[in-house]
Amino acid sequence: MKKRRERRKYYNWEIEIAKGNTDRFYNSTDWEILREEVLKRDKRQCQFFLGKWNDGKHFPYAIKIIKADTVHHIVPIKQRPDLALDINNCISLSFEAHEIIEERHRWSWRKKKKPITEERW
Ligand SMILES: [Zn+2]
Repeated sequence: MKKRRERRKYYNWEIEIAKGNTDRFYNSTDWEILREEVLKRDKRQCQFFLGKWNDGKHFPYAIKIIKADTVHHIVPIKQRPDLALDINNCISLSFEAHEIIEERHRWSWRKKKKPITEERW
């Protein structure tokens, strides 16, 4: 997907996200900066496969060190737009772990409704 970066300007993300502008949020500089901070904090390692974090529903089968490339919101931003830029609501995950947490992994037999806006980072 083409990534279009908006010029840096002030957004009230709490209001923007509540309005459904999650794409704008995930393309924002504010998110880019926080995302980088989260990855740095977690040493770019997937916290799920490291056994350091789980969502209480999904658990890793084995502890392995995997590079994280995704930053996941523990409490979804649509639920709590006010926590969208809260570093404590963010966790570094590998692509695989993120698919598991979001229940999008291919071996899932359950058909889940696709969210309107997918979290891509
Ligand atoms: Zn996520």
